[in-house]
Amino acid sequence: MELILKYFPDLSERQIEQIRQLGELYKEWNQKINVISRKDIDQVYDHHILHSMAIAQFIEFKPGAKILDLGTGGGLPGIPMAILFPETDFVLVDGTRKKITVVQEIAQALGLENVDARHQRAEEIKKEKFDFVICRAVASMDKLIEWSFRLIKEDQQHVWPNGLITLKGGDLRAELKALPKGFYIEKVPLSEFYDEPYFEEKFAIYAQY
Ligand code: SAH
Repeated sequence: MELILKYFPDLSERQIEQIRQLGELYKEWNQKINVISRKDIDQVYDHHILHSMAIAQFIEFKPGAKILDLGTGGGLPGIPMAILFPETDFVLVDGTRKKITVVQEIAQALGLENVDARHQRAEEIKKEKFDFVICRAVASMDKLIEWSFRLIKEDQQHVWPNGLITLKGGDLRAELKALPKGFYIEKVPLSEFYDEPYFEEKFAIYAQY
C-alpha cells in the first residue's frame, strides 16, 4: 500500500479504503478461484494493482466516458481504473465465466457502481462503442488491434485520440515490428513513472484508432 500512496498521493479516503480492500479481496478469492498467479499473490498491491494503475499516469479518463477492459481476468486493470475514475463507465469482459464471477463479487463488495462485468469475448460485442480499450497481458498486438479497433468511437474527448492502451512486458520489438504499417503506436516504459526494478521491462503500448 505504501508504494501506491507514494505514486498516487492525491487519492481520496474512499479510494484508499477501496484499494486496501481490493488487495484483501484478491487474497481471499484467489484461494478459491485462481485469478492472480499464486506465487505472486503476496505482491498483489505492487505487481498487480499499482501496475494496473500505470494507465492513469498518462491519461485521465473523463466523467461519462466509456472504457472497455478486454480480457479483464479477475478485474485488472479495470477495477483499479474504476476506483480511480468513479465518474467513468467501465465494461469488463472476459471469456472465462468463473473469473467474471470474481469480478462481479469484488465490484459489489467495493460498492463500484461504474463497473459492468460480463462473461463475453471481445469478438462477441455488437454495436457498442468505447472511448478507449484497455488491457493487460491478454494477446499479441495484432490480435488486440483486430478485436478492439472496431469497438472504438470516433468522437474524441480526451487529450489523446481514442485508441487502445495495453500493459505488456518483455521484449516487444518483434511484435511491434510485425504490425501492418500505418498505425500510430507509442511504447511508454513504466520506468518513466515507477522507480522499482519490477517495472523495468514493462511498458504501456498506446495504439491510436
Ligand atoms: N487482464 C488480466 C488477465 C490476463 S489473462 C490480468 O492482467 O490479470 C488473459 C485473459 O484474457 C484470460 O482471462 C482470457 O480468458 C481472456 N481473453 C483472452 N482473449 C479474450 C477475448 N478475445 N475476449 C475476452 N477475453 C479474452
